[in-house]
Amino acid sequence: LILLGSTGSIGLNTLAIAERYAIDIELLSAGKNVEVLNGQIARFKPKYVAISDKRLKSKINHTRIFCGEEELLEAIALCKSETVVNAIVGFAGLRSTIRSLELGKKVALANKESLVVAGAFIDTTQITPIDSEHFALSYLVQDKPIKKMSITASGGSFRDYPLEKLGDVTVKEALNHPNWSMGSKITIDSATMTNKLFELLEAKWLFPKVQHFDAFIETQSIMHAVIDFVDGSSTTHLAGADMKLPIAYAIKDAVEEPILPPVDLVALGSLEFRAICEDRYPIWAIKEHILEHPHLGVVVNAANEVAVAQFLDGKIGFLDIGERVLETYDRYRDVKVVSLEDVFALDEEIRKSF
Ligand code: NDP
Ligand code: MG
Repeated sequence: LILLGSTGSIGLNTLAIAERYAIDIELLSAGKNVEVLNGQIARFKPKYVAISDKRLKSKINHTRIFCGEEELLEAIALCKSETVVNAIVGFAGLRSTIRSLELGKKVALANKESLVVAGAFIDTTQITPIDSEHFALSYLVQDKPIKKMSITASGGSFRDYPLEKLGDVTVKEALNHPNWSMGSKITIDSATMTNKLFELLEAKWLFPKVQHFDAFIETQSIMHAVIDFVDGSSTTHLAGADMKLPIAYAIKDAVEEPILPPVDLVALGSLEFRAICEDRYPIWAIKEHILEHPHLGVVVNAANEVAVAQFLDGKIGFLDIGERVLETYDRYRDVKVVSLEDVFALDEEIRKSF
């Protein structure tokens, strides 16, 4: 297995599953967390190691170290493993997805941003989604006509917060997700609902024959997706809020052992569903438009990555994130994106404009 983003939340869960099934790790890649990376090297003994921050090379306990993005892509090409888990966060994961697919490898994709920004230029038949909602949809799909696919959202850190106080929330409060333990960027994206917007785009690329996609809130994160079939029946996928299940399916051919305990519906008593409202989640205003113009994913992603980083640095408020993204979306509404080169150029242009 090739594991990119090994020091993050998905990376750690992937290593737990790999260890359980004694799957060899050929390449470990991280951003800058040398301490965790060195621990992983000692434990999993990968053949190659990659780090994106070049200044940290001398601190890594390994003899075959690759630094920066270009060298990471070289390391992937050297590997014999057929599966790549891409758990890098953000646009930084795009080139690895593209190169891995060019090399004929199967990509177990946590880096949803790859599809959000460049889904039109990616062969999704070689991708297994690690995102829980898309794993759920793949689990549910049958060879029957589908009317609609729906995915669920938790509602994020502020689903019950007084609306009029949302402008003053702290970074610490925003990072306090009610159901999932995840990296900081996706936790903020959950609070703004941008994560769900991204997941609708992700679903659109992964299930290109389906016409209708939507999302709603299920507050416990037990129900992950619903498929409405044309015949009037609907099926849903229930599982605990733990990424080990999607990861196990993404890196193993067959999963026959228990990964999670089953959901106990009687103990839960009830589930609560809510619509996603634009007053709490302003980004939802562009849902229909972006699903019709999915090439605009790169615009939302670039603006969002910069704005979320600024919020985490204490430079802007929570509500400013959505405002900046929507402002940028309006500015670029008519932009054309017809190639991967356009995706990289537009991403760069938007970041510079901030
Ligand atoms: P984390 O922030 O926990 O981890 C991100 C990983 O990417 C770390 O290993 C980090 O390295 C590495 N990284 C960061 N920047 C770079 C870079 N420029 N080049 C190379 N590597 C880099 O995020 P998550 O694990 O939560 O999320 C990873 C991806 O999975 C995201 O796209 C997210 O949307 C998706 N995802 C996550 C879920 C979850 O439950 N966590 C659920 C569904 C999808 P380091 O820490 O060493 O700097
Ligand atoms: Mg998800």
